[in-house]
Amino acid sequence: MKKTKPWKTYRADAKFSEWIRERDKKCLRCGTKENLTNSHFWSRGKSALRYEPDNCIALCAWKCHIYGWEKEKQGEYRDFMLKRLGKERYDELEKIYYQSKMTRREAIKELQVLLKQELKKIEDGKGFVRLDMRSRNSKLFLGVLSERIRKSAKKYTGDMDIILNYVSKKK
Ligand SMILES: [Zn+2]
Repeated sequence: MKKTKPWKTYRADAKFSEWIRERDKKCLRCGTKENLTNSHFWSRGKSALRYEPDNCIALCAWKCHIYGWEKEKQGEYRDFMLKRLGKERYDELEKIYYQSKMTRREAIKELQVLLKQELKKIEDGKGFVRLDMRSRNSKLFLGVLSERIRKSAKKYTGDMDIILNYVSKKK
């Protein structure tokens, strides 16, 4: 079996961010689909939470992320996360934030496993990623994940062919 090389942080960040934006598909504060970014509730400086799906949501870059909820982590953003996660999970993540000693390398390894599983779901037709040419994120996401998607391309519609063309041109 081919061993997966661990990604560098910038690469892991980019892939995880794409995945979060694909998952949420819109800014979870105002609903826009423009200029989405990945927002960490607990700081991404903490490796254990840097690639934790429950710690992250899509927010539009300026209005809701930088000038919005980034400044509301003790207010609106906290209320939102409490409601979204439930008190138990919220407390769990907070505990991880204060106590985890996970290294960046370990966190990236976990992310790679997670995205691999997500890719499998896409192949099985259960993933959340839209195979939609209008979505820049989908193209990138599918492009960066794995060769394996090519093998299962037959399962999809014509859109997949366009995506595969795009991906192979990038290489
Ligand atoms: Zn917004």
